[in-house]
Amino acid sequence: MTKRIIVLGGGAGGTMAANRLARQLGDEIKAKKAEVVLISNTDQHIYQPGFMYIALGEKEPEHFIRRENSIVHRNVVLITDRIEKIDVKKKVLKSRQNHYPYDYLVISTGSRPDFNSLPGLAEGASNFYTLDGAIKLRDQLANIEKGRILITVDVPHKCPVAPLELVLMLDEYFRKRGIRDKIELKYTYPINRLHSLEPVSRWAEPEFEKRHILSETFFNLEKVDPKEKVAITMDGEEHPYDILISVPAHTGAQVIIDSGLGDEDGFIPTDRHTLKMENSDCVYVIGDATNLPISKAGSTAHYETETVVPNLMNRIKGRPETAVYDGKVACFLENSLHDASMIAFDYKNPPKPAAASEFIHWFKAVYNELYWLNARGIL
Ligand SMILES: Cc1cc2nc3c(=O)[nH]c(=O)nc-3n(C[C@H](O)[C@H](O)[C@H](O)COP(=O)(O)OP(=O)(O)OC[C@H]3O[C@@H](n4cnc5c(N)ncnc54)[C@H](O)[C@@H]3O)c2cc1C
Repeated sequence: MTKRIIVLGGGAGGTMAANRLARQLGDEIKAKKAEVVLISNTDQHIYQPGFMYIALGEKEPEHFIRRENSIVHRNVVLITDRIEKIDVKKKVLKSRQNHYPYDYLVISTGSRPDFNSLPGLAEGASNFYTLDGAIKLRDQLANIEKGRILITVDVPHKCPVAPLELVLMLDEYFRKRGIRDKIELKYTYPINRLHSLEPVSRWAEPEFEKRHILSETFFNLEKVDPKEKVAITMDGEEHPYDILISVPAHTGAQVIIDSGLGDEDGFIPTDRHTLKMENSDCVYVIGDATNLPISKAGSTAHYETETVVPNLMNRIKGRPETAVYDGKVACFLENSLHDASMIAFDYKNPPKPAAASEFIHWFKAVYNELYWLNARGIL
């Protein structure tokens, strides 16, 4: 009988997982022993790290968008549908019109910034965490000649280093335009340092000092007054701004919340080594959708497929699951528009940011193009 693996979510993790499964299970798919189905609610695939380059006017939005069917392996059955309910007891996914039974399920439904988490945020704040937000921010940045740019961050959010990268890149963006001395750049963070990863915080401090980037820690936004252009913290402090760039707290996908599978933020309790959903043997979770205390990043999703894909392949072939996820994450850290650092870490080894160099920046630029091979499961 054909064993059906459904991968839910056609973003970074889901596309990589489905393509890798299709490549590894070629013979089984041909012999109708296995079927790999990828279900996503959009027929577009957007490379989200591109949003930063869009906001800074470095690249056009189209550069980071492909049609999902152009990057999916021919052995994958691709379905565009919005799943409304995951019924793990009956092993079926339900959309408004269809039911999709599965033998094994890989959930990769991602995370999303919640712009309604604070009063005034949706109206008052700009962002670079959505395609529309990045395009609007690009135009705002291009039009500002002087003033104050305030960056606020709430946790959890995907790509934990992105807000730091943005402010460091903005510093050079305004230098290049010859107006850096007329722009006040202020970065804020909710805990007692610049970043939750202490080594990253230590790495950033001297850069901020050298480049006159202002910062404030223990900065917890409570509300925004869009009319007066003021950000108000939980301590009642008022911070006027000309452009407010906010990274709000993220939640899991609506379908996870509606299916009762998530914690209070909509993230799925997941075993840190097997990546199976807690109390389930047939449901795996990868990428931003997990509740694991590691960075929500595309690289995390990639490394997680290196555990889930061989384990599923072994199960289809009647062998034991042997792959174990060690918490591996790797992130580039843009330091300006021309140099970058990088970090790699796992459950046991903390990150050690590499000295920033032009080489790493170009490595990142090359990866931005190679991503499509990675999504295809080729890299
Ligand atoms: C500005 C920015 C910069 C970033 N920079 C980096 C970086 O430098 N390096 C890095 O590693 N990561 C980076 N990331 C993070 C990275 O993009 C995400 O962590 C990654 O995309 C997570 O993959 P995922 O598969 O978990 O979720 P996603 O890629 O978000 O995919 C989720 C998919 O699920 C689909 N979906 C959701 N609900 C349903 C439903 N009900 N039915 C059907 N389909 C559904 C969505 O449409 C989407 O296609 C960055 C992100 C941003 C925003």
